[in-house]
Amino acid sequence: MRPEIKRAQHTIPVGASSPLRACRNVGTDPLVVAEAHGQYLHDVDGTRYIDFMYGFGPLILGHAPEAVSTAIAQQAANGTLFGTYCTQEIELAERITATADHLEQLRFVCSGTEAVMSTLRLARAYTGRTRVLRFNGGYHGHFDLVQNKDEARMRDSGLDPAAMRSNVFAEYNDAESVERAFAESPGEIAAVVVEPIACNMSLVMPEEGFLADLRRICDREGAVLIFDEVITGFRLTYGPASNLLGVSPDLTAFGKIIGGGTPVGAFGGRRDIMRLLDEERVLQGGTLSGNPLTMAAGLATLDALAQPGFYEELERKGALLEAAVERHRAEKGLDFTFTRTGSIFAFIFVPQAAPVRVKADVAAQAQSPYTTMYAGLRTAGYHLAPDIEEPMYVSAETTDETLEDFAARAVALLATDPN
Ligand code: PLP
Repeated sequence: MRPEIKRAQHTIPVGASSPLRACRNVGTDPLVVAEAHGQYLHDVDGTRYIDFMYGFGPLILGHAPEAVSTAIAQQAANGTLFGTYCTQEIELAERITATADHLEQLRFVCSGTEAVMSTLRLARAYTGRTRVLRFNGGYHGHFDLVQNKDEARMRDSGLDPAAMRSNVFAEYNDAESVERAFAESPGEIAAVVVEPIACNMSLVMPEEGFLADLRRICDREGAVLIFDEVITGFRLTYGPASNLLGVSPDLTAFGKIIGGGTPVGAFGGRRDIMRLLDEERVLQGGTLSGNPLTMAAGLATLDALAQPGFYEELERKGALLEAAVERHRAEKGLDFTFTRTGSIFAFIFVPQAAPVRVKADVAAQAQSPYTTMYAGLRTAGYHLAPDIEEPMYVSAETTDETLEDFAARAVALLATDPN
């Protein structure tokens, strides 16, 4: 173990400020990184790793993109926090709301957690109800209301049992389970919150009609439909993924990409719901929310994403990776599932013929193929997701050569695993 890891663990629980970074689920020591550029992370020994994590998703342009770094440096020289109105904040809010008609108003916060939390509070105020319906396998941040803990574990987890009990669970891709939940809690459900593309149980796409069913049920029941686009926002297209999926939510939570690698979240949607913040009926605020440093990083990032052909090029790279994985898999005669949309991808170790629709389908996979692949690729100089159910990302800096090499090595390693 590196001395820095021991040192970190002495002062910081698990050694890091977010638990997955400790790499416990892959049984490998975490990297201790000194700097990062383009597709590379450089550790404190100067060893170079090719990244497929990109900070859990925000770094769609790769590490330290020049335009974003310059914008941050210039803003830092002119003040990082004003505590009053600033044009950078207005500009970024206008640019984001311009991407979808249903984004009539928007506010910034400092994390995806806060963004989702704020949408839920708004939904409760708007409907006068308290319960929230969410999906097994979804992740919406670390606050009490959206945790998966069962009754037995509530007491020792520090979570508020009352908040937890207001959770209503349904299965992703199963509108019937949503209907049942509403039938069991008539007039009590304030909101349905969903990742429109599930990115926290590997990568699972919504089946045809599922999101439209949620829209229909929410309209009928008077509940607020919230899309958690913390990962998908600006990842697949310039704006929310709902633009590609053809269903409009009432409220949307953003995070990650819109902050250009600095702390960010945002939430927005229907003016008649967002208006409750204006009336000061619903409290929401933050010392650092909408700070000019983050806004400058976000604006520079959106400038790059708005370039013609940006998302087409990312799709080309994603398709290249998928084709390479499929080719090597066929050559080796292996049977596993590779899911991809645009620049998000995941390996799921279930046979290709098996359904991957709900959390249980993903949870059924064997762990050891991923651990084998993770360890082997680390030795070969790659940095992967530290958990089998986290998806990975291609960035604007990922080269074709990297994608070909990664696919070949990944499949060769999987062929060595007994599972
Ligand atoms: N929502 C989704 C879909 C996420 O993936 C995450 C974090 O990964 C969050 C919310 C929470 O965001 P943050 O970690 O910025 O609080």
